[in-house]
Amino acid sequence: MTFAELLDRAEKRFGAGAVLDLSRDVVVSLTCPSCGAATAPAGRVLGGVRERDAACPACGAHRIVDVTASVTRGGAMDLSWTPAQVGLPPFDLIVARRGLDAQEGWLFDGDAPRVLGELHP
Ligand SMILES: [Zn+2]
Repeated sequence: MTFAELLDRAEKRFGAGAVLDLSRDVVVSLTCPSCGAATAPAGRVLGGVRERDAACPACGAHRIVDVTASVTRGGAMDLSWTPAQVGLPPFDLIVARRGLDAQEGWLFDGDAPRVLGELHP
């Protein structure tokens, strides 16, 4: 399931302006401050980006790492990505909310049959 589909679900539940909060930061892009090489999409949790990944492939400078832990319409997160693709672990909690008043936690357990195999009822 993509972030777009999860956001659709949140909007059905809470209305327009719904937001998803992830349990950890996701690197959405890497930008070189030195040579102006095109900003590259990353799409990985922060812990999954290594020192060498941050180096600009064109000039070797350390690129600026742009992270977000929120999924919104028109936000920094690419909505075609899936939680699994960016490295969010199975059984992670995603909080769907609108403003600060309406919110609920979703346990991201769609992968349960694959992860648990025979253990899954
Ligand atoms: Zn560069």
